[in-house]
Amino acid sequence: MRPVEPPDSTAKTILIVDDVPANLEVVGRHLENHGYRAVVAQGGIEGIERARLVQPSLILLDVLMPAVDGFETCRRLKANPDTRDIPVIFMTALTDTADKLTGFEVGAVDYVTKPLNGAEVLARIGTHLQLATLRQQLELQNTQLRQEIAARKEVQATLLRSNTELEQLAYVASHDMQEPLRMVASYLQLVAQRYQGKLDPEADEFIAFAVDGAKRMQALINDLLAYSRVGTKARPFAPTDCATLVDLAVADLRIAIEESGARVTRGPLPMVMADGMQMNHLFQNLIANAIKFHGKEPPQVRIEAEATDTGWCFSVRDNGIGIAPEYFERIFVLFQRLHGRREYPGTGIGLALCKKIVERHAGRIWVESTPSAGSVFKFTIPRRGDGTP
Ligand code: ADP
Repeated sequence: MRPVEPPDSTAKTILIVDDVPANLEVVGRHLENHGYRAVVAQGGIEGIERARLVQPSLILLDVLMPAVDGFETCRRLKANPDTRDIPVIFMTALTDTADKLTGFEVGAVDYVTKPLNGAEVLARIGTHLQLATLRQQLELQNTQLRQEIAARKEVQATLLRSNTELEQLAYVASHDMQEPLRMVASYLQLVAQRYQGKLDPEADEFIAFAVDGAKRMQALINDLLAYSRVGTKARPFAPTDCATLVDLAVADLRIAIEESGARVTRGPLPMVMADGMQMNHLFQNLIANAIKFHGKEPPQVRIEAEATDTGWCFSVRDNGIGIAPEYFERIFVLFQRLHGRREYPGTGIGLALCKKIVERHAGRIWVESTPSAGSVFKFTIPRRGDGTP
């Protein structure tokens, strides 16, 4: 006698729907012998009800049944959200292709022909259960992905909001600090002029420190203000002549150029669609850095532009101290400087400002450099579909 096996709790349930009890019996036993749990229903109406209650993994459905036939049963199963996703395999004695096609039309995944071949039935059930599992996994992954995307979008929106708020805060704070600071600086300068040499030498030194501190804070606030203005005081893009902008920037840097003995030259530069004021800041910062970070030789600075497939690539080349590759990214971050204030003065805002301006114009900025041999700062400005060259 065969020992009684405990029921397998992981066994998949197959619902068999047929109007002939003998068929139900044979197919049911065959499936149970191969590790499935078989549930039977006699006729379409009972089949639909059982499917809803039992939620089988798959339904074997006879086509030819009185009252509600297999096609109609399948239609109703597919119309109900509770049973819609259960795969249905038709059992058909029909050899007519049209009927097989009708089976697929009403939502079946496959059919087996009567008289049934036991091995074939098992093979088809196995395949479709596997497919159904894969589909469920895919759907689950899809849902998870969708949830992840939604969560990311929310984080992005929050970041954007707090970024805008921070920008406005930085703008208001630096703007409102300008006035009192101007007062501190000018009165300190007045004290310095009036009492220079009249107090003791230590007092002269203290006043000089205070004046220097106030000046540095002014520079910092001005740069911060310029930085926050890229977002808050942006102007619409308009045709902008880069040659004129570079000439203007060079004129503004006249004192630094004369003091350092720099030679600043440029090639032909294009018209671009841009915020002219911001482009002026961009050139001015890059040229000022090219002059400031010079080596033993007087600075040689060259500004050029080259057409690319998508727009223009500008370059500002110098023969200065250069930058080690490990700092190529870091120098574009706010307040990141590679030198002490005494070596080279500065606030560490210039390149962060340049990056922000270039990105507002949908471009990219980077540096190519060899320490002691000079640097080339490059940035792109994409062409816009407005006929601008
Ligand atoms: P700042 O000039 O106020 O220090 P920037 O943001 O303009 O700040 O530059 C960041 C750092 O990048 C500088 O401190 C300097 O170390 C480096 N750097 C920028 N431009 C050049 C250049 N042309 N040559 C060498 N180093 C440079």
